[in-house]
Amino acid sequence: MLQQTQVKTVIPYFYKFIKKFKDLKKFSQCSEKRIMKLWEGLGYYRRAKNLLATSKILVKKYNLKLPKTYEELKRLPGVGDYTANSLLGLVHNQPTIAIDGNVRRIFSRLLNIREKQIDFDKLIKTNKTRLFNTSRNSDFVEALMEFGALICKPKDPKCKICNLNNTCKYFKSSKKIKLNNIRMIKNKNYNIFCYINRNKQIALTKQNKVGFLKNSNLPKILEADKIYEGKNWKFLKNYKNSISNLNLNINLYYKFSKKIPVDYKWYWLDNNKEFIPSFTKKIFKQVSNLF
Ligand code: SF4
Repeated sequence: MLQQTQVKTVIPYFYKFIKKFKDLKKFSQCSEKRIMKLWEGLGYYRRAKNLLATSKILVKKYNLKLPKTYEELKRLPGVGDYTANSLLGLVHNQPTIAIDGNVRRIFSRLLNIREKQIDFDKLIKTNKTRLFNTSRNSDFVEALMEFGALICKPKDPKCKICNLNNTCKYFKSSKKIKLNNIRMIKNKNYNIFCYINRNKQIALTKQNKVGFLKNSNLPKILEADKIYEGKNWKFLKNYKNSISNLNLNINLYYKFSKKIPVDYKWYWLDNNKEFIPSFTKKIFKQVSNLF
């Protein structure tokens, strides 16, 4: 849940999940539809699907335990290099470092060398005995994450109170390296076409090709430079929406219609029992103003 998502956003979802599912087995037996509904609003919906798929494997193949090798962990849905190493450290107390932007930044500053000039795998391997000189590897993994988030922050690191400032080359150097991990924000323009009916319903399809919500329920959505041939669309509103590193400029169109294309299904504009991504809910809100 915490992947690319702030703690304060995750907390209510985390409590909701642990309240609903008293153990992993119960969770694994839940339908994907219900999990998606519970996850609604948290974004990055693939995580929910992967979590469910992984829970089924853990129940079936591993007797509800998390595997202890990197190779086995990597085979679980949604588990990449970073997560596999985090789990090995956090859960199994193994000497490992999950290399993410935080860790890269910390080492890069300690050495005052730009990130892309550092071979992190080699660095960790050659300094293994020094780095993992502890029996508390799980705390070490956690500490690195916290250290990057609270002390050696991307902007304005708290060098004066940092325990490592004695040895940190960035702190001591008069020629400090520049960070190269500024997040690139992309601007995109989309036209969205909504079929609606007099019963306050909107037609959605999972057959859309937009990368950020692929195969999620959406009205027809096209990049603004692509022309949609359908006729009689009325302009409703222009608004902005941000998703991850995307700034979206949206033009919303609508049409009252009884007929909808084959891949579409009607959904109520309010009171839906099915999972609807937040992006689509915002469209619901705009379209509801027509009634
Ligand atoms: S002294 Fe400053 S730059 Fe160096 S590790 Fe500490 S917080 Fe980061």
